[in-house]
Amino acid sequence: MKAVVFRQHGGPDVLEYTDVPEPRVGPGEILVRVKACSINHLDIWIRQGLPAYRITLPHISGCDVAGVIDRLGPGVTTCKVGDRVVLAPGLSCGECAWCRSGDDNLCATYGIRGAATDGGYAEWITARAQDALAIPAAMAFEEAAAYPLVFLTAWHMLVTRAKLRAGERVLVHAAGSGTGHAAIQIAKHLQATVCATVGSDEKIPKAKALGAEEIINSRRENIEVRVKEWAQGRGVDVVFEHIGPATWESSVRVLAKGGRLVTCGATSGPSVTLDLRYLFSRQLSLLGSMMGTRAELEAVARLIGEGRLKPIVDTVIPLREARVAQGRLLRREVFGKLVLAP
Ligand SMILES: [Zn+2]
Repeated sequence: MKAVVFRQHGGPDVLEYTDVPEPRVGPGEILVRVKACSINHLDIWIRQGLPAYRITLPHISGCDVAGVIDRLGPGVTTCKVGDRVVLAPGLSCGECAWCRSGDDNLCATYGIRGAATDGGYAEWITARAQDALAIPAAMAFEEAAAYPLVFLTAWHMLVTRAKLRAGERVLVHAAGSGTGHAAIQIAKHLQATVCATVGSDEKIPKAKALGAEEIINSRRENIEVRVKEWAQGRGVDVVFEHIGPATWESSVRVLAKGGRLVTCGATSGPSVTLDLRYLFSRQLSLLGSMMGTRAELEAVARLIGEGRLKPIVDTVIPLREARVAQGRLLRREVFGKLVLAP
């Protein structure tokens, strides 16, 4: 089959569109013909060799996969050949104490598809049958592949970790990013008021269309000044942070008393400083978040199926051009999600 693999870590040049053996379907597994696989920053970090993700080389990236079941392994009874499915990106054991308590994204052996396993930058992929979720009949494969990781991540951050409530103010960084465009929609679903940042003026109307009341161009405006104006000097209740050092300081300073900063990423670097006086005197909470639980993924899938949340597919790009697609994501030349199609 055709796949995009890399045999060593490095820049986009290490991605190679080539022939690899078709994966074999084992007991309890399904073989899925990939129709769409969306791109995430995670794919780039793994390609670059971030130590947190130990992979075996050669490797196939891609954690958000939608397609059609083509073959069933022995013992599979929960789905059938021809089913249109999207695969859960999180891999948990189902048996450890965290899994048994429903916090399966804290699983002792938690992994992410396309990191802990080969992923969907390929014509075929195998998965555990229990990881398949049905795609509603009206939904395109591209749209199905666009939602799992980013909507799950944003949901866990805002609903479960930050406990965002109706009427609260939230600052969402990078409205055009995968998690950012999901976070605005989830915040509006929770009836919060949203201020969002963008990196270019052309993204402003798109962020407005998602429901953000206030938009700040972070390249030419001072985030702290603008957010405080918008929040009438009071600050915001929640900051949706995934940028890191480039925004961290202002993210802390714009929080209202009792505010919560929730973060899932560090695209501008891993280290920040913290003025502890803000933390204790304003009684702030700093919350880490990673992925989300299976129950949360199903909640998100239901709302997307009902049309109440909508993944935005910026562009569908042929699989063979994965290198170009990752470059566009790195340069933030995207609003929503880039999706690869074999
Ligand atoms: Zn577990």
